[in-house]
Amino acid sequence: EARMKQGLPQRRPIDGVKHIVAVSSGKGGVGKSTTAVNLALGLANLKQRVGILDVDLYGPSIPRLMNLRDTTPELDTQNRLIPLSNYGVQCMSMGFLVKEEDPIVWRGLMVMKALDQLLRQVVWDNVDVLVVDMPPGTGDTQLSLTQQVPLSGAVIVSTPQDIALLDVTKGINMFKKVEVPILGLVENMSHFICPNCRHESHIFGHPTNLDHKARALGIDVIGRIPLTEQICELSDAGKPVVLAARVGDEAKAYMALAESV
Ligand code: ADP
Repeated sequence: EARMKQGLPQRRPIDGVKHIVAVSSGKGGVGKSTTAVNLALGLANLKQRVGILDVDLYGPSIPRLMNLRDTTPELDTQNRLIPLSNYGVQCMSMGFLVKEEDPIVWRGLMVMKALDQLLRQVVWDNVDVLVVDMPPGTGDTQLSLTQQVPLSGAVIVSTPQDIALLDVTKGINMFKKVEVPILGLVENMSHFICPNCRHESHIFGHPTNLDHKARALGIDVIGRIPLTEQICELSDAGKPVVLAARVGDEAKAYMALAESV
């Protein structure tokens, strides 16, 4: 009611979901989806019932990252989508509804319709935390989502390099404006630890830059994920690094992130 008085849109919860956490970034290619997946699996490891909703409509990567490519969700009797599950996590993605090689040429209304289907026509089974892999940036899809469903919080992913870009500030301001709590900033590709000598190098800039920026924006740094070959290789093979047999620095960093969220 308070929101209605202020002229803010009414938000409706997603059926079968307790908390919704958005994972967002200023631009593409910074590791947003990788973070979303490993955060989700980290939370599942903490005995939460977890779902992943991939609303990166133009570049869905959850089917690949969760090893659910070439599978199609079934419909229930009311034509609602039944999430696909792997590694104990329920997943729904635009990528399940279109073929990987199909060009996604929809614009405007069709994107909004797809978003509506992903938000309202999915049968989640008792999910404690739904991790939403957002599209990069601050376009219509992002704004629409933040206005339609109550987000418990947002996690912002950035590399030390792109933190300087205006896009990150714009993303943070978007969440502030619609009164979504920002859980914090994850610095991805924060440092590289040499597998041979354990020397740590800051390939994309020194972390103090990011710290300064985070402080200026009034948000906490809640994770630092190293740049590792393992993350890249395992992600491509559909095996999130958090599940790797050899628990390395990256898996520990993601688990710490899940605990802080
Ligand atoms: P986004 O969702 O921001 O577009 P992705 O999560 O798809 O980014 O990651 C982009 C690429 O970078 C992928 O190939 C992924 O495996 C790789 N990547 C992400 N984070 C790391 C990391 N910390 N170390 C190494 N490679 C990474």
